[in-house]
Amino acid sequence: MKFATKAIHAGQEPDPTTGAVMTPIYQTSTYWQRSPGDNKGYEYSRGTNPTRKALEDCIAALENAKYGLAFSSGMGATDAVLRLLSPGDEVITGDDLYGGSYRIFTKIYEKYGIKFHFLDLDKPENIEQAINKNTKLIWIETPTNPTMRIVDIAGISKIAKANGIKLCVDNTFASPYLQNPIDLGADIVMHSVTKYIAGHSDVVMGALCVNDEELYKSLWFVYNACGATPGPQDSFLVLRGIKTLHLRMKAHCENGAKVAHYLKNHPKVEHVYWPGFESHPNHEIAKKQMRDFGGMVSITLKNAGLEETFKIASKFKVFTLAESLGGVESLINHPTTMTHGSIPKEAREKVGVTDNLLRLSVGVEDIDDLIADLEQALA
Ligand SMILES: *Cc1c(COP(=O)(O)O)cnc(C)c1O
Repeated sequence: MKFATKAIHAGQEPDPTTGAVMTPIYQTSTYWQRSPGDNKGYEYSRGTNPTRKALEDCIAALENAKYGLAFSSGMGATDAVLRLLSPGDEVITGDDLYGGSYRIFTKIYEKYGIKFHFLDLDKPENIEQAINKNTKLIWIETPTNPTMRIVDIAGISKIAKANGIKLCVDNTFASPYLQNPIDLGADIVMHSVTKYIAGHSDVVMGALCVNDEELYKSLWFVYNACGATPGPQDSFLVLRGIKTLHLRMKAHCENGAKVAHYLKNHPKVEHVYWPGFESHPNHEIAKKQMRDFGGMVSITLKNAGLEETFKIASKFKVFTLAESLGGVESLINHPTTMTHGSIPKEAREKVGVTDNLLRLSVGVEDIDDLIADLEQALA
């Protein structure tokens, strides 16, 4: 089946007891057993729930993966992957990560004896030099947040495979509509479902997708043993939201491109970060591994300090000043004080996350209203 059909149907059948077309919200913590162990595959909702199962199968289908697991947040999903590691293990990752990923790596897992290498992933030789016998995981994010660098998934997957290392890709910014890391050789795809997949800024959720059965079993063990699994109401909301993922993504990409081009010619804007520009340093990789360039656009303001940047960020009327991204509504975010506040100043400035940077999650409103809002805020 093609993407749009899978987004609407994968994992879902009319309900066997009533014929309900939409998967019901199975609001139950536990399930009847005819005699101990004799059940219909459901025992207790921390480990299994039919509404969640339909969603997991749908997300897995969109990622061309055999197995999907939903978590109560993107960080819950990330945490489950990291729990596969043991003290002494090492992880190679990028130097401009989502702030929360940086935080869990450095503030939680370093304490348990896991070592992280934060590298410039544009240079594959950096990865090869950092690999040693303790390296167990490569964790990448692409496009990166907020500077929209593109990391070569297929290239890195070759290095990972040659060295027997697992590769996990945080695919939140692209969504499965724009890129499928498993097809490019990744072992695990991680999503903050909160963003594009749910798409309506009303749920916090995460997901992992894998093809390998052993890896699925190990992750399911963590999922059930540690228990960061979402409830049926949230699963239903995402199952509903996902049915328009392809329509929303198409509109996000169209509006994103128009906003990026508008801002590129604006006299108050110093730089526009958007992988669709030919001048973008990783444009060729973006063209190769993504189907379009997405709805995320970051800008730096010309000659603007923190005060001027705050002033402009507060002037928007259609774009809402808020953390998060990927919903139907346009959002604007000031990374250094909002989403990326947990990254030390030096580490973030090294990769261009400066006080004059603003990140836009371009929504699916009418493009004329979005451009008019940018015009008045930057005036
Ligand atoms: C939001 C986000 C996360 C974390 O997900 P939550 O659902 O907020 O826990 C991880 N990675 C990226 C790229 C994100 O944008």
